[in-house]
Amino acid sequence: MLWPLTRRRHVTNAHLAQRVALIRQQNPESERWLMLVEAAFAEADDSQAWADAVLNVANERPIRAPLLHQSQIAVRRRVLHRWLREVLELAAVDHLGRSLSRTLEPVALLEAAVSQDDDNMEALAGAVGVERPALSVVGQIAALPLLQTCGRALAAQVPSSWCEGYCPVCGAWPTLAEFRGLERKRWLRCGRCATGWEVPWLHCPFCGETEHTNLGYLAPEDGETTRKVEICDSCKGYVKAEPTVKPLAAWEIVLDDLATVPLEVAALDRGYHKPERPGFGLDARVVGT
Ligand SMILES: [Zn+2]
Ligand SMILES: [Zn+2]
Repeated sequence: MLWPLTRRRHVTNAHLAQRVALIRQQNPESERWLMLVEAAFAEADDSQAWADAVLNVANERPIRAPLLHQSQIAVRRRVLHRWLREVLELAAVDHLGRSLSRTLEPVALLEAAVSQDDDNMEALAGAVGVERPALSVVGQIAALPLLQTCGRALAAQVPSSWCEGYCPVCGAWPTLAEFRGLERKRWLRCGRCATGWEVPWLHCPFCGETEHTNLGYLAPEDGETTRKVEICDSCKGYVKAEPTVKPLAAWEIVLDDLATVPLEVAALDRGYHKPERPGFGLDARVVGT
């Protein structure tokens, strides 16, 4: 897919802008993805409209279900349409963007993206004649401002001892692990809603393995040595890890993920992978108002 590099959203967060400029310089091939990420965080930060989304979480959920499971989220149609149009313009070929924004149902796309529902995403992609992976990217970026809002709104309700490997708010697998502060406590972080949850040092988020002989890490041979990839030989899962002084900002999680693609490639080359299915099959409803 050819993506035009025509528009760039102004970013008001100076730290974010600086970091984006650096990654842009070092990884020119990431330009398109960077533009989308930049736009999504500008939207999440600027737009009061997303903070106005009405979130109704279920009073009773299955015991291991994330907070958004069986929730209903009401978003303003006007805000969503405007934002999705912007994402489509940034992400797709011009004519495709325009025709997609006419035929795609934004609420359905947002719901499939929030729930990480591949079957629904496939059906939506088929209906508008695009490839599912391309529409998934659009959906994940489109859902980011809403998921960030949900993460902030639900932060106080995250159980202090969450033993699952998936995000306690949105059910996604962790984007990275932080070794935080002097004590080097291990926190998993979600790149979608920015939620963090503390986990034991020896614990695979994907299969629950705790046996140290099956857990290890890969470190770069040269250059930067603080970042590494945690690996599990039981399920062949991996997660990137880095030391942090304090919790990473939401945008830092996404940009650090982007800046450490070589680590990812090293893990994939050695036969490690991320699970294909999401950590938890979220059933969340998005409605337009
Ligand atoms: Zn999450
Ligand atoms: Zn594992």
